[in-house]
Amino acid sequence: MAVATTAPFLIGSGRVEHRAHTYPEPGAGQLLIRPRANALCGSDHGLFRDGSQVVAGHEAAGTVVAAGPGATTPVGTRGVIYLMGYCGRCRSCRAGATNLCLDKAGDMGFNRDGGLGPLELVEERMFFPIGDDLPFPLATMLLDVMGTSGAALNRALAVRPDIKSLLITGAGPVGIGVLAVARLRLGQDVPIHISDVSGWRLSFAESLGGIPVHADSVADLPPVDVAVDASGRAAARRSALDRLAKRGVLVCVGHGEDLLLQVSPDLIAAGRAVLGSEYFPYGDFAGNLELLLHNQDYLGQIVTHTFDVGETALAFETFLSGESGKVVVTQEAE
Ligand SMILES: [Zn+2]
Ligand SMILES: [Zn+2]
Repeated sequence: MAVATTAPFLIGSGRVEHRAHTYPEPGAGQLLIRPRANALCGSDHGLFRDGSQVVAGHEAAGTVVAAGPGATTPVGTRGVIYLMGYCGRCRSCRAGATNLCLDKAGDMGFNRDGGLGPLELVEERMFFPIGDDLPFPLATMLLDVMGTSGAALNRALAVRPDIKSLLITGAGPVGIGVLAVARLRLGQDVPIHISDVSGWRLSFAESLGGIPVHADSVADLPPVDVAVDASGRAAARRSALDRLAKRGVLVCVGHGEDLLLQVSPDLIAAGRAVLGSEYFPYGDFAGNLELLLHNQDYLGQIVTHTFDVGETALAFETFLSGESGKVVVTQEAE
């Protein structure tokens, strides 16, 4: 039976309006989820400013409340929701690259109702169970913070397995995620420089084990094996490329501006690579859950604020102030 309820809609200019909204019952292979926590993201900024036709939110954790025909996940199962409605059948999906699905059925929170609402309808393959103990706000770290960032690191490691130094340009949420995941996976001895223009963000990065560098001083750093640009800025991308040693790899994970390349000196002569990285394969969840379960105190520091869903506008304002880590919107169980 369809559920008639209300849901918060971003209606533009930073306003949130609770409107009547109906959720269909789950169809074949689908699950209906009660979101309990949803982390805000830089990519939500445009929706907050301009408004959204669907309920926003794409970094959600919650509980299964109903399963459609053929779906086998028990009601009550706790888990997180993958952004993309990947098909599971195309060539990309069969190769494990669900983040590059060739027949994607939309993105949660962008063109399908997302995690700030009271319910979320997903295909069962988009849901990843997390067990009984992980708090929901912390579970949202499995999405862009660990997932997207971890995949960017994997892209670099595929080309450059012997990373001995790392530079991250941009200390926003994705850059912080790269820092945290790299700190845990590469060990304490690999220096991780992280640049930004914001003093607040640089001290936050330092508290998580990064070596803070003002964006103006990146040129003074010694050469690095790998750079990850999480700023999306042309100048930052170029400064990162300039810092790469021979065999160096630049991974661009933040969408945004251009990068001007001189192919011979920048790429060929130094044997460098420039890669893009979009979201993450569904198959990465399992390894990231292990990492999260063993490092809850460290990774938990990335969530600096939580707000009840009734304070969604304030949550966005706090997040967009530029002086926060991840901001998570929570909802009680119904
Ligand atoms: Zn996100
Ligand atoms: Zn596919």
